[in-house]
Amino acid sequence: MLEPSPRFRALTLSELKRQNLLPGLIESYQKIFGDGDIWKEGAYCSSEGWGNVISLEEYNKRKDEAKLRCECGGLFRPCYPAEELEERIKEELHDPEKSILVIADGGTKEKISGFLWGNIAEFDEIEQMIVNSRYSLRRDQGLSEMNLLKRKLGEKGLLGGPVSLWR
Ligand SMILES: [Zn+2]
Repeated sequence: MLEPSPRFRALTLSELKRQNLLPGLIESYQKIFGDGDIWKEGAYCSSEGWGNVISLEEYNKRKDEAKLRCECGGLFRPCYPAEELEERIKEELHDPEKSILVIADGGTKEKISGFLWGNIAEFDEIEQMIVNSRYSLRRDQGLSEMNLLKRKLGEKGLLGGPVSLWR
């Protein structure tokens, strides 16, 4: 028998809070980005930074065994601590006119199996957001990727109105 497909729902931040789904979203974020087969962003070394990351599973195992010290002498710290994620989610979704959140139900009321969220803005505004945050240390690369994106959106006739930026 086939698994039922996940149900997708668009939510505002206040709906997310009212339905008590914020903890589930945080947990889902940590699991997805901390997965060893994909992003492997569970924890990073305090000395080497994000150049040395381990999966969430490995981080939890090391934590249980009290082995959080890296071979280089640094300490493994979580990439996405729950409190920081909560602040970020609240900040990025605070304006329902300018942000979108879509979640995929994970079968139970509180469980979330997938999600995406983004901002709605004019292209120039989005370009600034991306170049200033994601590429703050690699501005040239950011601008060149944004030019490519702009060209592709233009070819599809999608420029000239608000566009969505998915994070
Ligand atoms: Zn290290």
